[in-house]
Amino acid sequence: MSEALRCGFAALVGRPNVGKSTLLNALVGEKLSIVTPRPQTTRHRIIGVCFLPDAQIAFVDTPGLHRGEKRALNRAMNRTAAAALEEADLCVFVVEALHWTAEDDHVLKRLERTGRPVILAINKVDRVRPRERLLPWIAEISRRFAFADIVPLSALKSDNVEALKRAIAQRLPESPALFTEGERTDRGLEFRIAETLREKLTLELNQEVPYGVAVEVERAAEEEGRLEIAAVIWVDRAGQKPIVIGPKGERLKRVGRAARLELNRLLGRRLHLTLWVKVRENWADNARDLRHLGLE
Ligand code: GDP
Ligand code: MG
Repeated sequence: MSEALRCGFAALVGRPNVGKSTLLNALVGEKLSIVTPRPQTTRHRIIGVCFLPDAQIAFVDTPGLHRGEKRALNRAMNRTAAAALEEADLCVFVVEALHWTAEDDHVLKRLERTGRPVILAINKVDRVRPRERLLPWIAEISRRFAFADIVPLSALKSDNVEALKRAIAQRLPESPALFTEGERTDRGLEFRIAETLREKLTLELNQEVPYGVAVEVERAAEEEGRLEIAAVIWVDRAGQKPIVIGPKGERLKRVGRAARLELNRLLGRRLHLTLWVKVRENWADNARDLRHLGLE
């Protein structure tokens, strides 16, 4: 006898840099969300659906909930994360093993207010040395809230992510199918191209201006058997343009090459990229520019 299908939305929530996007990709088995060592890499809400024999889980990756909401971009990112929380059937609170901070307390307070079940995902356990330190730490954290479940895992190594799926699936409502196998994500081609470019830029600009960078794909069209892509990299001050381009254009070339190789693998098709760098003063503070870039 087969069990009824369970379907619903699980929000991945946590402070910046705990590994929410890495976890989304591990859960879905495909790189949907970009990852860098820098906090605040994720700016949008991204849905990735995981299909199990008896459940469909739509994971919602969110920008990290953070404080210091000065720029319009940061306020928009917090709003995006908060809205995802309100819409979810349950929350997966992602934290970093052995590193509980005041920001985690702040996120937990937000989660308490939603009244949704909260599953604690303790990420980056691959880093814990010696392993014996983990259990007492988990015991201490478990006293902070009545978590529906606690799952230690490593998103990076895909360790124990199946246990998280099972913990979630059993708590979702019985429901007819919400998704078909073809619908793994709500994000289309242009978004994934723009995000891949922003990831490579952020990795290149690690000491410099990544927060001031946005990418807009102006065109992505099939031409002579390959995908022709034209994209603009927006910087928010004139002085950042030569930094992004690099001496003799070398940096921009490296970014383009890395993005092209990854997109080639991801999309399974040949592509050609044309990149421009343009200045749009203070786009991250300007509501109209944020809307234009899909960052509401
Ligand atoms: P987010 O800001 O919460 O979305 O975090 P990201 O997914 O962008 O990851 C932030 C950093 O943590 C990146 O450098 C990841 O490679 C790293 N990271 C994520 N998950 C793990 C993990 O399970 N183990 C280790 N060692 N690093 C991880
Ligand atoms: Mg992220």
